[in-house]
Amino acid sequence: MDIHFLGTGSAYPGTERDNTSICFSNKGYHVLVDVSGNPCRKLKQMDVDLGELDAVVLTHFHIDHIYGLPSLLWGMWLEGRKKPLRIFCDYRNEKKLQGWLAAMEADKWPISFSVKVEIFNGDQEEQLLSGGEMSFTCFKALHSVPAVGLEVQCAGRVVVYSCDTEVNARIGQYSHIDMLIHEATSARTLAGNHSSLREVAEKYALDKIKEIVLVHLSDNEPYEEEVTRLGIPKIVIGEDLMTKSL
Ligand SMILES: [Zn+2]
Ligand SMILES: [Zn+2]
Repeated sequence: MDIHFLGTGSAYPGTERDNTSICFSNKGYHVLVDVSGNPCRKLKQMDVDLGELDAVVLTHFHIDHIYGLPSLLWGMWLEGRKKPLRIFCDYRNEKKLQGWLAAMEADKWPISFSVKVEIFNGDQEEQLLSGGEMSFTCFKALHSVPAVGLEVQCAGRVVVYSCDTEVNARIGQYSHIDMLIHEATSARTLAGNHSSLREVAEKYALDKIKEIVLVHLSDNEPYEEEVTRLGIPKIVIGEDLMTKSL
């Protein structure tokens, strides 16, 4: 499985990073989790064909996680996409998503692919979709609005992704995680509804986690300093256009 980090920034406007958005790919199946700045360009830079993207999962409805959607659909339309696109969102956001699609008049474009909105209940654990030997299950994240984390299983590997969230006991329940992709909006300071690098390092049992990739990062935070102080080499500070394979 390839994990493409299209963006690794927090909601705060940054100079180095686009907002957090990640594409999981395996055997020609591609799932984009959240849609931030210039998604078409980023997907192309990471060799993911716009015509081949299978699904979009929206973790929650904060702007930094969803604003690239119109641009993604428009780019797909211009390239003559044929394949249907599945978009997953929490049931509490369905009306907003449908209203947004209506506002951009996507149904009036001479669009040659269908967009299918599929809903889930983010308060429950639920398998959302599977394809390319990957399966995606959501669990409740701890944020200011309904939000989910995702467990992605592929060929016996377990990847857990959560953004945005406070440190979540649900993640601590795993006996083994191959890769934890976790938000770290700050390096040290505590901020409600989010996590710091220090909390991630101190509150999860790191011996059960093979590698930690931090995303949702803010400018001018001393992440490198903190990683050096902690001396934990398995913690990786995410960067835009990085791909991790496992
Ligand atoms: Zn965010
Ligand atoms: Zn958020």
